[in-house]
Amino acid sequence: MIRFFHVGKRYPGGQSALDDVTFHVPRGQFAFLTGPSGAGKTTLLKLIFREEVPSEGQILVNGRNVASLPRAKIPYLRRTLGVVFQDFRLIPRKTVFENVSYLPRILGHDRKAQKKMAYQALRRVGLAHRMQAFPAELSGGEQQRVAIARAVLAEPELLIADEPTGNLDPELSAEILRLFLEINLRGTTLLVATHDRDLIRRHARRVLTLEHGRLVGDAERVPAEAPAPAFLHRPSEPSRPPDPSEEAMATGKVGETGSARAGPAGPAVGSEDTEDAGETDPTDVERTVPVAVADGEP
Ligand code: ADP
Repeated sequence: MIRFFHVGKRYPGGQSALDDVTFHVPRGQFAFLTGPSGAGKTTLLKLIFREEVPSEGQILVNGRNVASLPRAKIPYLRRTLGVVFQDFRLIPRKTVFENVSYLPRILGHDRKAQKKMAYQALRRVGLAHRMQAFPAELSGGEQQRVAIARAVLAEPELLIADEPTGNLDPELSAEILRLFLEINLRGTTLLVATHDRDLIRRHARRVLTLEHGRLVGDAERVPAEAPAPAFLHRPSEPSRPPDPSEEAMATGKVGETGSARAGPAGPAVGSEDTEDAGETDPTDVERTVPVAVADGEP
């Protein structure tokens, strides 16, 4: 679903935002991405939807090698994604309805279907009554919820969200998290960047931690009734059958659709990508898995 393989990103001027980042978020998983301001969270998300390209390394998203994706194919990648931007990116001159129904419109749904999908998505974030408002007429929190409605509307294969609760009070944050958990249960993979420690603590989900552009933590949290040994060290190579896409990345032989699993959306029963799907109990036992650090590091 998402694979980063030794990814680095330097911005023009030499500013290094990500350094040798390797991880895999399997299909159906819900993972948080955290770290202090400036750690590289937004950059990592931008690489996923090809707003930025990596300086080195390979990235696979929904079966596509995003770093080498031809420009003309980027819209097809983005149609498999829902993105909640930190700055919302609502179109100021369009109504809430027009903003939210953009995707069903370009996918060719008729106006009635667009309206139904937009209404349902806005109802899920408590804003169905503001369909005809313009973004400037909404509070920051309401705009954020419109951005979330737009991202979840088509139940994408993968939803990535950058500080999606940054402007919301604790009650609304909890509501949004419930919505995310619900669409996760229906098969959408989620990667949610947040520095809200409370939010992370309340939900037993995987937590990837960035610091100064490096992945310094990977904590998998499991339900209380299945306690794990206090510290489980993940082997540097997990014991699972070789993944053709990963092998291809390691050897540099990745095409534009690098994954052998570039199949239809939704969990494929029995595939490796379902390994973390279906976790529902948000209890709070933490199994800390120190991330596999770069070669040669302690
Ligand atoms: P976070 O989302 O964790 O706050 P960012 O990904 O926004 O971190 O930033 C990581 C680093 O990259 C920071 O040092 C930031 O200043 C730098 N950075 C981010 N975007 C740009 C850019 N467009 N040009 C230059 N440097 C950038």
